Amino acid sequence: MLKRKKIKNCVIIGSGPSGYTAAIYASRADLNPILFEGFQPGGQLTMTTYVDNYPGFYNGIYGNKLMENLKKQAERFNSIIISKTITKVKLSNEIGGLHRIQIENENYIESKGIIIATGSKPRFLGIDKEKKFMGLGISFCATCDGFFHKEKDVAIIGGGDTALEEAIFLSKICKNIYLIVRKNYFKASKFLQKKILKIKNINIYFGFKIIEIFGNNFLEGIKIFNKKNKINKSIFISGLFISIGHDPNTDLFKNQLKLDEKGFIFVKKGTTCTNKPGVFAAGDVQDSIYRQAITSAGTGCMAALDLERYLYFCC
Ligand SMILES: Cc1cc2nc3c(=O)[nH]c(=O)nc-3n(C[C@H](O)[C@H](O)[C@H](O)COP(=O)(O)OP(=O)(O)OC[C@H]3O[C@@H](n4cnc5c(N)ncnc54)[C@H](O)[C@@H]3O)c2cc1C
Repeated sequence: MLKRKKIKNCVIIGSGPSGYTAAIYASRADLNPILFEGFQPGGQLTMTTYVDNYPGFYNGIYGNKLMENLKKQAERFNSIIISKTITKVKLSNEIGGLHRIQIENENYIESKGIIIATGSKPRFLGIDKEKKFMGLGISFCATCDGFFHKEKDVAIIGGGDTALEEAIFLSKICKNIYLIVRKNYFKASKFLQKKILKIKNINIYFGFKIIEIFGNNFLEGIKIFNKKNKINKSIFISGLFISIGHDPNTDLFKNQLKLDEKGFIFVKKGTTCTNKPGVFAAGDVQDSIYRQAITSAGTGCMAALDLERYLYFCC
């Protein structure tokens, strides 16, 4: 159990790439960080098999192994890592003020600085075998996994900007792209709509939803269904990209921090500073655009440096 009385300098909430990177930098700067791992130790990368685009691992690395390495690196510099979830926070408005952090089934602690690294959750379709084939054909990120399907057939579900951008990206490396749009229209910008209609290897299915995912050890295909016209169709693909949105883990901070229109934490441009002094945000929780392990790690580093400067100049 942590001693409540002792005031902390740096509490990190979250154990994805941004949280652990923040811990590495903060511990090397003698800020004695305490990191709370939360409900998903290691974060989103523990849901995948191979990570092929994290710099430095030229042969790729398993998501779990990468996160294990980051944790060990943070521990090497004496970061304290605790397997608990934060259930409530009370953020101070004062420069140099103390933020109160409530730990599940424990007392609260107080800290001058907080790094929020609580990440985001991709939205699932909620159908059978979706989780079974995660990393075995099903992915949430074309930039991350598109390359595994070079010159093969793939499908994407979604009709927003991200889905269309991913379809355009995949059209350059894959053979045929099946873009499944649940509504009868796109939600994406007109610019992207115009662009996508001109790409020959993208086949668009409006008004269809995925009703079945099939395969043995790997994904082999999907069945789609159009309710209005009662059309059933099987599509054989090696990859399915689910692009129906991400939800940031910001429930704890609602009504205390400024969030953007999608619910992501607002940070001042080019920094990790939120609208509260001593509170910094890193990784997917403040990034609805890039959502990569490397960008999360990068902003984790920035958050620790921003906090170090804050403690030095303001406290
Ligand atoms: C299936 C899949 C495959 C992916 N593949 C790649 C890839 O190949 N390459 C790539 O660059 N990116 C990939 N990504 C994206 C990448 O995983 C994310 O961009 C990255 O993990 C975000 O890191 P993060 O530090 O913001 O937090 P996350 O990884 O989202 O982790 C959030 C952390 O916050 C913790 N947390 C949340 N709430 C609380 C709380 N109340 N108290 C304490 N802790 C809390 C959770 O337990 C978790 O540890 C993939 C994502 C998915 C879902």
